[in-house]
Amino acid sequence: MKIVFATGNPHKLKEIQEIAGDGDIEFVLPAEGFNPVEDGETFEENSLIKAREAAKLSGNYSLADDSGLCVDALSGAPGIHSARYADTAQARIDKLLNALDDCENRSAKFVCAMTLVDGQGNLIYKTRGECSGEISRKQSGTNGFGYDPVFLVEKNRTMAEMSEDEKNLVSHRGKALRDVIKFIKSELM
Ligand code: IMP
Repeated sequence: MKIVFATGNPHKLKEIQEIAGDGDIEFVLPAEGFNPVEDGETFEENSLIKAREAAKLSGNYSLADDSGLCVDALSGAPGIHSARYADTAQARIDKLLNALDDCENRSAKFVCAMTLVDGQGNLIYKTRGECSGEISRKQSGTNGFGYDPVFLVEKNRTMAEMSEDEKNLVSHRGKALRDVIKFIKSELM
């Protein structure tokens, strides 16, 4: 079964394909012109906007995720603004470490809302995956993307120090996607 995965981020598509494993479901990038206006106020709203935009372009079942980092001491920021918190990936990490400079409470979580719509944009299934951890005091590791180098899943290891397989087992996206795949296989295939 072919499902459009509504992202412009090839790294995410690769992660999704790896988590999905066997070839029963083939994820493909959205058609040219995919440029959703993510003006929702929650991860759930934004993932529905992206899924509907991809379905409108392809007429195909489309799955979208909207994800981000929520830091307790920053009242849940950067949250839905994670991708735009600063101009570059490194600037986003630096801004986060500075914002938490003197902070003892470094609890945080990655959140991923996933939404599946049919070719007409009707909501078929939605779910949410979370991964709790802490923001490290300095960055470490080169794997993954985004805030991975400062997100401690274990006491002494950031997500960027994990292999892809290790990350996928515990990540917000891995949890949400495994749930969606279970639904697709039991209800749509
Ligand atoms: P989205 O593409 O609109 O869902 O934006 C998600 C943003 O949240 C990304 O650009 C990253 O900054 C951050 N993010 C989401 N998932 C991850 C992850 O697995 N690792 C690191 N950063 C992530």
